[in-house]
Amino acid sequence: MQDASTLTSVRRHSGGHKTPVTTTSESPSPQPNPPTADITNQAKEYSRKKIWLSISGAALFFVLTLLVVSTGISAAIEEFARGFSSNEYVVLLIFVTAFGVLESVVSFPLSYYSGFYLEHKYNLSNQTFANWMWERFKGTLVGIPIGVPILLAFFYCLKNFQEWWWLPVSGVLFFFSVVLARLGPTLIFPLFYKFQPIEDGNLKSKIIALCERVGMKVEGVFVFNLSKNTKKANAAFAGIGKSKRIILGDTLTANFTDDEIVTVFAHELGHYKLKHIRTMMLIGTLSTFLGLYLTAQVYAASLAWFGFSSIDQIAALPLLTLWLGIYSLVTSPLSNAVSRKHEREADRYAVELTSNKSAFANALRKLATTNLADTEPHPLVEFLFYSHPSIEKRIRFVEGTVS
Ligand SMILES: [Zn+2]
Repeated sequence: MQDASTLTSVRRHSGGHKTPVTTTSESPSPQPNPPTADITNQAKEYSRKKIWLSISGAALFFVLTLLVVSTGISAAIEEFARGFSSNEYVVLLIFVTAFGVLESVVSFPLSYYSGFYLEHKYNLSNQTFANWMWERFKGTLVGIPIGVPILLAFFYCLKNFQEWWWLPVSGVLFFFSVVLARLGPTLIFPLFYKFQPIEDGNLKSKIIALCERVGMKVEGVFVFNLSKNTKKANAAFAGIGKSKRIILGDTLTANFTDDEIVTVFAHELGHYKLKHIRTMMLIGTLSTFLGLYLTAQVYAASLAWFGFSSIDQIAALPLLTLWLGIYSLVTSPLSNAVSRKHEREADRYAVELTSNKSAFANALRKLATTNLADTEPHPLVEFLFYSHPSIEKRIRFVEGTVS
């Protein structure tokens, strides 16, 4: 989920290899407990595979894009699109659609292996193959009304502002990021999950008490049916303005004790009180301006290498995505570092607010087991890929925090 600050682990998992479609129970049931060493080994293996898959996905994207712009495939797709219309914007939409279809076909085996096969192999998924495909399809459908206006605005800027295109496009992207952060939790998330206000009971009373202490409205606490897709537990703080809310996966509320859930909730409250989403959006916006500026320069300079003549030539646009991809690859360790800093702050906040180190440490241990997280990744792997400090570090930090 975009603009949601989640509770655990490595982000950007793409999707999958062949597996029997397992039918699993609707609600997450506690798994039998194999020896800890087994879990640790499994977690290491699973994490290693996921990271290699992310790297392979990125490498595949770069190689394919290079191939497409350097062999004339891109120009051929533009020609194909021109067969349908003489309107440049329509040609662009057809070009991007054809490209999107090609990309998703080529990357499907990887998506399937990572997003479906591995999740089942490690007993983390509750999805049937049909469910998994449906969720992906829904994601694409939802992406269309968001992506098309951005794409058209981008192309308009490219045509009309020429070498200054990056400036208005950054503005457009900022506008969309605010709209999405505001509308995501109320309009988009419910397309994927069912959200219900937290039920009355002991947990709710404890959560209300915490909310009152820090001045957050309790109407903003929801439980959602994460278990329809996965056995992994998670919670998040999402939204801005009136859509601000804390969402707890039913996999968390079903398998964790009230005290553990309260500490997890307090961590999310920390993100809320410390204004982490706002900070991330601000950093994201600055990074967008800088990234588009740099990309615009490199893109313009590199056009001739591939035989393109102008920046608004439709066949040249994949080259732009290549440079943007490189920019985001280079800057992702930086944004991960900021994210890890926020996570540590939210952890500290949770301990100080609840004064319950042991429950929080237990919750983190349980999360590691439930989500098969590598608790002690190699420091370089953590630096490059982890949006959260490793669980082991978090537990040491929590236990060492004076509350
Ligand atoms: Zn967090």
